Amino acid sequence: MKPIVLITGGSRGIGAATAKNLAQQGYRVCINYRSNEDTANKLVADIKKDGGEAIAIQADVSDEQAVIMLFKIIDEKVGALTHLVNNAGILLPQMKVTEMSAQRINKMLATNVTSYFLCAKEAIKRMKDGGAIVNVSSAAARLGAPNEYVDYAASKGAIDTFTTGLSLEVASLNIRVNGVRPGFIHTDMHADGGEPNRIERVKGLIPLQRGGKPEEVASAIAFLLSEQASYITGSFIELAGGK
Ligand code: NAP
Repeated sequence: MKPIVLITGGSRGIGAATAKNLAQQGYRVCINYRSNEDTANKLVADIKKDGGEAIAIQADVSDEQAVIMLFKIIDEKVGALTHLVNNAGILLPQMKVTEMSAQRINKMLATNVTSYFLCAKEAIKRMKDGGAIVNVSSAAARLGAPNEYVDYAASKGAIDTFTTGLSLEVASLNIRVNGVRPGFIHTDMHADGGEPNRIERVKGLIPLQRGGKPEEVASAIAFLLSEQASYITGSFIELAGGK
């Protein structure tokens, strides 16, 4: 039986690179996206052209009913999920904490934190013979992102604690839960944060002197999901060029 993986926010950036990597390794890949249907469909077509299996499913993963529907569609169209990559996340325009509204903070937490809980909840129900979950956190959880995105950094701090707690809660079910903490990765996300060239500005502060590629994060995610990582749970891989 082929493993079945859901990648939330799998249509672009780190999620898309992960979808390609896992499809090449023989996973049946479920690619979730929020609104960018054409991009998701193109990724599915590319994976199929290379001999892989993939479907794209629209759902706002911060919405509980949408998550329930997402998993129902996977059950019906693909089968019982064995692996989950909690990856969907947002960055909002740079500002100081003193300027942040409750609406902004709640949107950030619903997308970057609540969605991880909701998807893990549905995934665990299906992992009857064990499984693996990778939560995509961020180096911002350690660094705090002052003057830019403290709300985002705090959401990722919550994901680190979620990863630790959940890993202990489901270890006896043979479900492993790990996290990755990317740093400065070349994706569209920096434009959403209001500074498309942010990596160019900060790269001198990164020990490896460059931003990372989505494929470099995908490799770490694929490793943590794989049997090669069979004794690893509650752990984190840093992917921030030494920062
Ligand atoms: P990205 O290129 O901006 O892609 C975001 C993806 O998430 C898209 O597929 C988007 O779907 C989807 N998405 C956003 N909100 C969603 C929602 N409510 N429901 C479902 N899907 C949703 O992002 P990325 O840079 O690859 O980031 C992926 C993860 O890595 C995030 O958790 C991010 O915080 C983390 N990360 C990124 C960096 C970095 O430097 N890029 C660093 C550290 C951590 P649509 O295409 O439909 O909009």
